[in-house]
Amino acid sequence: MATTNSYQRYHIDTIPTPDFVPWPNKFDVKVNRPQLAKLLISEIIHLKGDMKAVTSRPCMYGTFSGPIGGFAPRPEHCVGCLRCTVQHPKMVTITRNADRERLGDSYFTSAYVDAVSYEADTGSIPVKGAGYRGKFGGEGWDGMWTDMSEIVRPTRDGIHGREFISTVVDIGEKPSYLIFNDNGEITSAKPRILSIPVPFIYDAPPASAASSTLNEILARAASETQTLAVMPIDGDEWSVVSDQLPVQSIVPLIKLGDESTIEHLGFTPSMVEIDISDDPNSNFQNLISSIQSQFPDTIIAVRLPYDDPDNLLKLYEIGVRVFHLFADFHGRGQDGRFVLDLIREAHLTFVEAGTRDEVTLIGSGGIIAAEHVPKAIITGLDLIALDTPLLVALQAQFEGDCANRKTSQFAMPKNLPLDWGIQRLKNLTATWRDQLLEILGAMGLREVRRLRGEIGRAMFQVDLEREAFAEIEGYLVEAGD
Ligand code: SF4
Repeated sequence: MATTNSYQRYHIDTIPTPDFVPWPNKFDVKVNRPQLAKLLISEIIHLKGDMKAVTSRPCMYGTFSGPIGGFAPRPEHCVGCLRCTVQHPKMVTITRNADRERLGDSYFTSAYVDAVSYEADTGSIPVKGAGYRGKFGGEGWDGMWTDMSEIVRPTRDGIHGREFISTVVDIGEKPSYLIFNDNGEITSAKPRILSIPVPFIYDAPPASAASSTLNEILARAASETQTLAVMPIDGDEWSVVSDQLPVQSIVPLIKLGDESTIEHLGFTPSMVEIDISDDPNSNFQNLISSIQSQFPDTIIAVRLPYDDPDNLLKLYEIGVRVFHLFADFHGRGQDGRFVLDLIREAHLTFVEAGTRDEVTLIGSGGIIAAEHVPKAIITGLDLIALDTPLLVALQAQFEGDCANRKTSQFAMPKNLPLDWGIQRLKNLTATWRDQLLEILGAMGLREVRRLRGEIGRAMFQVDLEREAFAEIEGYLVEAGD
């Protein structure tokens, strides 16, 4: 989107941006003080008063490096490596802090909150030095594995940049052929593409989190990372705010019935979204025509829940080429299916109609970790609209289980500093892109556009288990297949 005279490799500046609001510590550190006193006395005698040796600490992270050492531990420094308990099992107990484990909700669990908050804080990829300790299968995204090829690995070195890997994606209309008249002029629809350097945009925040500060953070972070922020526009209020925002990154979200708001815009948006979620069968062609006549170069996207394939094809027939499909925040569609199946269905609908390359599919809902991005693209999305991860990066608290897009309650920290919020979102965007580059590098792919719909790059637990166990009596019953 930015135009320069010389080539510049895309890069997001990351800066450590610690939490703004103190969150509960990850671990509780309990020290048996009488035991510690006894140990110190015995060491003073044993080491003949060598106080340097006596006061050396077993924690390299500084948990016991306060003024009175282990008598007043500092659990905020503890990373849970357990070295101290291995060395002094009778003296130190390290347990997970229950308050910390309550962050998030039943889908965006505290483990995901920890990962997103680390990414937004440091701008670095969370690395588990002791190896992966999570599950190797399960429900939802956990039942899908990506398939890497070791053979191509040495030539494509993801984030280290020895060979460039593109994460640019295109949004817009891509007709599969052009028609020319006798004068060589194009008479059919022309390609209209908006390219952004990362396969994610920022989705509009839910009502409970929305504020002018949050809008500004989203718009400015989107501008600095050269992506887009979807933002509801609201009549007169909008015309006041828009003067201060980097409008080139804003995608106005227009609800059916609010058509007149488009007149208040005061700038030409690169893309607009029409929200037809309340009535996917409504006739909104007049609105499309009015936007097209006012902003002929603007990409028009339609926002609706993952819908039945026939309706998607009907929308295609009336000229819709960019679809923003959403599930709830737990990745469930209206019929309860998980977003993985919903994306696949939408993608295959257009593949079977022979029109997949003409449309752009943007998806949101249930994509809450960096690894979900390549999985969603493999399943069929062109790009992702990030929702709850942005809120978690800004330290939002979930009030109860937050699945429903309209009724979920998120409590944003009060007095969010603008620069802090922008940098947290930049850090998150940079680390998610880095993790995508790692995956693309490991697969030997030079650009993310080639990953879309590449289902051969994925394995599904249910398929592998079926192959392995189908012959075994009782398998189908137990698997509920
Ligand atoms: S568990 Fe590791 S980080 Fe935590 S206090 Fe013990 S040594 Fe330090």
